[in-house]
Order: sequence, then C-alpha cells, then structure tokens
Amino acid sequence: MWKCLVFILVQICAASLVGNLWQIFQRIPRTRQVDPCSDFYQFACEAGANDLDVDSYSENTTLGFLEIAKQRVAESLSKSLSCNSSTWCNDEESFNNARKFYSVCLDTQPESTLPELKTIIKSFVNLPIVNESWDEKDFKWVREVSVLRKYGVQAIIHEFVARDWKNVSALKTYFVAPKFDFVHKEDLLGTSRNSGELVSFYKRYIKLIFKKLGLSIQKAGEVSEDIVAFETEIARIVPDESEVTPPEPITFYTLKNRFPQMDWLTYFINSVKTSAILWSPLIVINEEYYRRLVNLISRTQSRVIAQYLLFKFMFKFRAAVEDAHSPEYCLEDVIKKMKTNVGKVFVNNYYSPETKQSVSEIVADVKEAFAEILNESVWLDQSTKDQALEKLHAVRTIIGYSDDLFTDNREASIRLTNNYYKNCVELARREAEIEHMQLEKGLHPWIPSSVDPNAFYNVTANTIFIPAGLLIPPVYDKTYPKYRNYGVLGAIIGHVLTHGFDFEGKDYDSKGSEQTWWTTKSLIAYYSHLECVLPQYNNISASESRESVGDFGGLSENVADSGGIQVAFRAYMNWKRRNQQELLPAGTITSEKLFFMNFAKLWCTPQSNSSLSNKYHVFNSLASVPSFTDAFGCEPGSKMNPVRRCKLW
Ligand SMILES: [Zn+2]
Repeated sequence: MWKCLVFILVQICAASLVGNLWQIFQRIPRTRQVDPCSDFYQFACEAGANDLDVDSYSENTTLGFLEIAKQRVAESLSKSLSCNSSTWCNDEESFNNARKFYSVCLDTQPESTLPELKTIIKSFVNLPIVNESWDEKDFKWVREVSVLRKYGVQAIIHEFVARDWKNVSALKTYFVAPKFDFVHKEDLLGTSRNSGELVSFYKRYIKLIFKKLGLSIQKAGEVSEDIVAFETEIARIVPDESEVTPPEPITFYTLKNRFPQMDWLTYFINSVKTSAILWSPLIVINEEYYRRLVNLISRTQSRVIAQYLLFKFMFKFRAAVEDAHSPEYCLEDVIKKMKTNVGKVFVNNYYSPETKQSVSEIVADVKEAFAEILNESVWLDQSTKDQALEKLHAVRTIIGYSDDLFTDNREASIRLTNNYYKNCVELARREAEIEHMQLEKGLHPWIPSSVDPNAFYNVTANTIFIPAGLLIPPVYDKTYPKYRNYGVLGAIIGHVLTHGFDFEGKDYDSKGSEQTWWTTKSLIAYYSHLECVLPQYNNISASESRESVGDFGGLSENVADSGGIQVAFRAYMNWKRRNQQELLPAGTITSEKLFFMNFAKLWCTPQSNSSLSNKYHVFNSLASVPSFTDAFGCEPGSKMNPVRRCKLW
C-alpha cells in the first residue's frame, strides 16, 4: 500500500550556480504580468531560468522539474536498453534480460497479437473459440479460473496475498469481490454518468477481439452482448461497500464448509504452487458475493462463462492493440514488468552513491521540522503528541533503491524468447508465483520501481521511499542552493511524511499496524480541523476542478501538500539559522521567494497539457502558508491569501 506524491528522469551535470557578475545581473527578475498573489502557479511557471536562478534548467522553461526529470529518465533508459555504443552493453546477464524484453517488444508487429495469444492460451486452458474440440459438458469453470489466476488473470474470483493490516508482520490470503477493468460497476449497472456510451464502446471493443479471433461479425456481436450481460450480473451481486462486514481470518477447511458448492481445492491446486496456502489464514472480504456467485453460475450457460474468461485473458495481454509498439510503450512496459533489472541499470549508470548521504541530511532536517510542528501543536494532547512523535521518529527511509535490489535475481532466471506475448505471459506467471511463494518464504517487501520520478509513503511499513529516478536534475542535485533543494525535494519529503498523519495514516502506529493511538479528545480535534479543511477544497472542486478533491483520498493529498511545504520551509529556515547566508542572485529577490518559486516550478506543465491537478498542488500547498503570503506580500482576501485559512499540520 504505497501512497505517492504524483505521477512525477537522466543525468546532466548541474552547472555551478556561482556565476560571474554578468550572469548574476542576467538573473535579476523581470517584471511579469501575472500577479503572484492571484495565480502563483502561472507566475512561477512563466518565470524563466534567470528568475529562478537555475542554470541547468535554461534549455526549457515551459516544462516543470518533474516533467523534465521524467523525460530524462526515459531518454537514459532507452539509450541503455538499446545499447548502441555504451560501456554497459556487457552488463550482467540479469540486465540483458531487460534489454532482450525491450528489443523483442520493439520488433513485435501488431498483426501477430491475436494469433500468438490464441496459441498461448490454448496451451494451458480449455476454452471455446480457441480450442476446436471444446465441449460444454466437460467445462469446469473453477478449474479454468484457477489456471488463469496462475498467469495473473483475475476473473470471477479475486484473490491476492497481502500483509495483514492488524499484524503487519504476517501475510494473509484475501478473497474479495472481482474488479472491473474496462468499465466500472456503476457503468454496467447504468447508474453512472455516460454509462450508456461507455458500455456501448465496451461492447464494440469485445466484438472486435472476437472478430479477430475468427468469428463472424454477427457471432462476435452476440458473444459481446452475452459477455456484458454476464458481467452486469456479476456487478449486481457485488455488495455495496456499506454491506462489507469486518472479516475475521478463517482456515481453508472453514472456507470449504462455508461455501460447500465452490470447488476450492481445485482452485488452490491449480492457481497456487505452494501448499502453504492450505494453512495460511484466509480473509474473505465479500462473503455475500461468494454466496450469491454460486447461484449466478448455476443459472448461466457454461459457454458464456467460458467466453468471458477468454475475454479476460485477451484483455490482460492487450489483445486489441492495433498500433505498432512504440519505443515509449516498450519502455513503459519493461519498467513495469522488469522492475528489478531496469532499476539495477539505472542505479549503476545514473545514480551517485553520495546522493544518499546528502539526501539523508534533508530527510533528517525535514523530520526535525515536523517534530517541532507536532510539539507546538496546541490541539494535540500530550499522550497523542508522544505517540505521533514516536511514529515520526520510527519512519524508515529508503533513498534511491532498496538494499535487496542487487541481491534479487528473480528476473535474471527468467528465460525470455523472441516472442513478446510468450514473454509477457511468462513474466505474469512468475509474478503470480512469487506472490504466492511469499506465504512460504515470509515477507518480501514489494517496493515501487527505483526509476520512478515520484516519492512514496507506505503506511503498513511506516516507510518513505525516494527513488533514484527522482534524485536527478532538475529536481535535485547536491550542488544546488539550499532554497532550491529544500523548496523542491524537501517539500516532496514533507509531503510523503505527512501521509503518515493524514486521514488514513493516522490509524496506523509506528510499526505500521492498524491501531488507534489517538485519545478521544485529540481525535475530535483532528476531525474538526479536517472539517475546516474540507469545504475549502470542495469549493475549489466545484468551481474549477473536475477532479474529485472532496473525497478523503483527495483530501489526504491536500493535507499532505499543505503539510509538506510547511515542514520543508521550516527545515530550510532551521538550516539558514545554522549556516551562513546563501549567495543569492543580485536584485531584490529573497531566498524565501526563491524557495517558493522553485517549489511551484516542480509542478509546471506546458499549456497544451495543462493539468488542473498540478495547478492545485501549488494552490493547496501555498494558500494556507503564512510564510508564503508574507514572502510575496499577498493582501488578505487575495486568492493566494484567503480570509478563511485552515491547516491540519
Ligand atoms: Zn500524496
């Protein structure tokens, strides 16, 4: 359960920021049209490299730091993966696997997709259309569902292995109601906006796949209608969230007794390689769904169920992709599917070990600033404050990559072929196998990719992760001035740390177990602060943003944004007190102003790709921060200095 900063990477050298007099003169801010107190995002995004005192950034001023970092990671990885004339062409075998996957992906022609997938699926399941000899009488739905699960395809039954949220050192097998991939439950039930349009598009998509599998237009249309009708029935029996009762773990034998009509043994024998699952505690989150499922299956034709399973396999492996594989697609695919190998090459070639030391100093400063804020907080009572501080001090930090990146050889032993789809299916099979093998071998923390230009907080591990892919210019370089590193990376670290104390994070303790450590008094105060924050974001949501920021997920993001910048600013001020003043560009600009401008520049996107969520990251972070409004002299009542101000942390 990782919460991230954003959807936020390659190496260039940061030029020295100490320039000659002429360069300093060049950096004096020009008069701009946009008023920082009415639209700080626009103000900062229009600011050029000179205004920001950012030499290494001058080649492109319309993009934000995150956007540039993302492009740089992509450029370096595709260079390494193509291996034209680089020194790392002879890297260890494990990395060659990633390179092979990438090159096979690039060479794959879209017209080969369906025939290939048809041959692959035929080799392990017995389903109509792909198997000429398929006979309804021999069809055992649980068997086919469980074999598909072995290849990571979840259909009708949804099962996974995860930490137990009450005891995070233990793993449990969970059964939940199925997820809907293409359309949502509400679309299928016709209760969402545009559901008619979405479902009709979905039907056309299914029809196309079956037509390509060799059915006539008419037959493919019929199959598509049947599949959507069946999936709608599934949606109908999925309980609403309010119906879900808190589950207690049960044993395999209890599961069998509770749902005697379901062939659980067949499910486990086919889907899972380890027998550990038979004595692992099971948690069935949507019991009612499984009870209703027995009835639904008994009144549905086997052929319809079988065709639905075939569709789910085709959907997972992108059967309908018509375009040739672009380098962007293949890069994204290899990053996603060969996370460890790609992580190794990035770290080996683009990450400096010294980065860890310099970043840990910022992390320590930000944590200290957070502790000061907690200590000064007047609405937390002493007992809750002590617990909050204990949790904060216990936060683990992973900088760049996790220690097991270089010892993890599971992707090295995979035998890849020259067939892209076989490779995808094999990688999916390995992933599902590893997931289940965890039950036997204990916990293997599954952490996000090291090349991701993003940052994460894991609530059940009480850990923050700052991947190597984020720690590159223009987001971070240890030679940058402190106002920049604290304003950008410091704010990101503050953001992810605050997630430990957001609406969801507050319910987990220093070890990551779900536990209430709040006194009733402090909890009431927490909710009243949260309530104050809520309408502020709802107003924004209603008037300007299409995104639902009023829900608690969005609210947690906003709380983390506003908390993040405050702790980062305090950490920077503490640094300034301990050290000499920094060399600033000539003119009247202050280091405080530069701190906030660099922060906002993190989020800029080009006009053509204008993202409201990026804009609101800036607004939500800054509009409740007095040090920001002081730095820019924003009058009370201006957009960036609203009269009603709320803050949690
Ligand atoms: Zn976040």
